[in-house]
Amino acid sequence: MGRLPLSLIVLLLWSGDAAAQTTLAPATAESAETAPNVSAEADANGSAETAAVELPERKPPKPPEPKSNKLPGARELFASVPGAAPLAARAIGFYSKGCLAGGVPLPLNGPDWQVMRTSRNRNWGSPQLVQFLERLASDARALDGWPGLLVGDMSQPRGGPMLTGHTSHQVGLDADIWLTPMPDRILTVEERENMDAASMLKDPLHVDPEVFTDLQIKLIRRAASYPQVARIFVHPAIKKSLCERADVTGKDTSWLGKVRPWWNHHYHFHVRLACPPGMDGCKDQPPVSGDSGCDSKELDNWYSMLKKSAIWRTQQNIDPDAKPSGKKKAFPLTDLPSDCRTVLTAGGNELLSVDDELPPVAVKAAASREAGPGVPLLSKTELQNLLNGGKIGIPLPVRNPTR
Ligand SMILES: [Zn+2]
Repeated sequence: MGRLPLSLIVLLLWSGDAAAQTTLAPATAESAETAPNVSAEADANGSAETAAVELPERKPPKPPEPKSNKLPGARELFASVPGAAPLAARAIGFYSKGCLAGGVPLPLNGPDWQVMRTSRNRNWGSPQLVQFLERLASDARALDGWPGLLVGDMSQPRGGPMLTGHTSHQVGLDADIWLTPMPDRILTVEERENMDAASMLKDPLHVDPEVFTDLQIKLIRRAASYPQVARIFVHPAIKKSLCERADVTGKDTSWLGKVRPWWNHHYHFHVRLACPPGMDGCKDQPPVSGDSGCDSKELDNWYSMLKKSAIWRTQQNIDPDAKPSGKKKAFPLTDLPSDCRTVLTAGGNELLSVDDELPPVAVKAAASREAGPGVPLLSKTELQNLLNGGKIGIPLPVRNPTR
């Protein structure tokens, strides 16, 4: 900017011909870059004409490199947008390959809930998810004595894949809910960032009944009872305990079929809504079979995987609380439904370029603390006992990333 007045002054000093050839357009950025033919040297010589003779040998300064049109991955693109796409509300694509138009935030505080890890800005969802969480919070308190929900990750403002954590949570229909009861006060911002959810496990294979009480069982049952809920994910040890103790919620145990075992859900459970009716482009998962899943081979298989994993992690002395260090597979924007590009650019949002640094909203989300402790390792005795069982192989089980 400083050069502009200088070039104007010199232009005014210029004699007839030169001035006549120069239009008075130099107010534009472009001409400000070409005008420096007339430089400080011209000023020093006190003669623009002399300068005009000498200057052609001088190279004009290079214009700044144009911004690359290359896009970073979808994770970076979606993590960098701080607000929702101002479009009609729509979950677009599949839970692990999609995005969210017209997302709305769950308020950080409600009468029966509080949002945790607020720095992540992941308290966004479809209007249907937000309404569901408010209803669950209120029903669980009134009907089951659950004091209130601590709500973990939902989706980013425009959904999409995340820099850290989840494979799913991309379309505004998934939410994590802590299994820790809400304290009877408003938590501070620092507490929401640093407080850890309580693990329900006493060892890698079993829940601790002192922590995983009837209250948690009733809360999960309540969540599973709504017709719009397609699935709920819990740690396999929690699923097993639910199967054994489901009678605390009454005779009807049909809700158990929606509750599916999955890795890492030992301090929270994950609620997944079905695609709301009439939502174009939203892809459902095949519905659960209706079987409780309690006497299934599937649960046995989970136990065998849990054992292998526990033995391997204990023998390798893996730090249960270490942040996952593996690099995530590339996720280009072109892997998402094409409408997700419209979602990203809606409201005049300029797409991040590969040359740009990640904005603070993305850096903060990626740096935030895990919401709960890792799965514990085995004690020496437990390890010995499992190894002596004789049935257990050592290779690490394959983790299915498609959830
Ligand atoms: Zn989840």
